[in-house]
Amino acid sequence: MHDSLFRLLYQKNVTVHQYFDHFNFLDHSKAILVVGPMGSGKTEYARRVWKDSQVARRKSQYIAECTSTGSRDRRRVIYCRSALDLSRFEQYPKDMLVSRAGVERMGDELVITRNSFDIESLIDRNSQVGTWIIDEAGFYDDRLAFVIEHAITTTQSNFVLPTLLLNFRNQLFNKTTELLISRASDIYLFTAYCEHPNCLSASHCTYRYYMIDGKECPAPYFDPLILIGGDKKSGLQTVPNYETRCEAHHYLPAMNYCYLFLKPAAVQASSGYPETLLKEFEFVVNDIENSELYSSVVQESMSKGQEILLNSLNVPLLAERMLLYLYLELQLLSEDMFISIVRRFSLQEDYLHKRFAENSLRQMPLGLETSSF
Ligand SMILES: [Zn+2]
Repeated sequence: MHDSLFRLLYQKNVTVHQYFDHFNFLDHSKAILVVGPMGSGKTEYARRVWKDSQVARRKSQYIAECTSTGSRDRRRVIYCRSALDLSRFEQYPKDMLVSRAGVERMGDELVITRNSFDIESLIDRNSQVGTWIIDEAGFYDDRLAFVIEHAITTTQSNFVLPTLLLNFRNQLFNKTTELLISRASDIYLFTAYCEHPNCLSASHCTYRYYMIDGKECPAPYFDPLILIGGDKKSGLQTVPNYETRCEAHHYLPAMNYCYLFLKPAAVQASSGYPETLLKEFEFVVNDIENSELYSSVVQESMSKGQEILLNSLNVPLLAERMLLYLYLELQLLSEDMFISIVRRFSLQEDYLHKRFAENSLRQMPLGLETSSF
């Protein structure tokens, strides 16, 4: 269709970029991943799909036949917003989509969903709808990938899936994103400007840091992956900040430390030899300059020429973060060992309780289950 236009333009010796096609409702059975960091335009892309559907729906009965399979017309769109994301939009009406391009009232075409079961039931209940936008798809449980696969097979619906791809460790966000990637038919990769003040590069990394006494302190590698709530009660600056950064300005201290020292020490502890691990907790809590963590981060900072990595040692509750990494994420320590470390080093139980509450997979071990919060 564009051939004659492109031939004409190429003769003018200009570079032709095709920036954006309107959504193709004639296509069916698509799982379209829209990935990129915060501020890269994922929501704006999804909003355009919804706007396109408004235009496409005004077309003729002939088009309706071309865009439908059974009762489902792919020009009928429902936008699913994760309940986990609600706090971002507290001040707006529940049916309002907010993006950099403005706001859009979607009425009953915007639905709040909590998990893959909600989505599955929404698909069953709305047999006229043929295109599903699931915003922040990576926030859902990994069952979502199979719900989508089943719906595509049985209904030929289209799915548009805006999601973060990488967590602050520059690794795939979670199992859900991994499964969605392996099942996607199309992927749109968006980037944003790096948010470092001295940089205009394209970025795709999510950088987590804490502001402590006016200083930017990069989150250490072992910081908990899921951090939802703040900790106002503790009076400590434990609420993380996020920025989109290019790789050069994405600081991630203590990864070497985790793999070369902390993890092996925990493996040893779980085999009945806890001395090395306990000594390290002792140093991190009471005498950090003698810890392996300290020497590893100092060495990393020098070898990379990134002085800012040293600020990560000022992040509060380092021992609590290390313990959660070993117990909740790597599942290397027994419950007894977890409890004994918490008690021996008087770790902050409120902080630990909050992280357990955010991690629905495991309960706080018995003996520490009562909390004042
Ligand atoms: Zn940069």
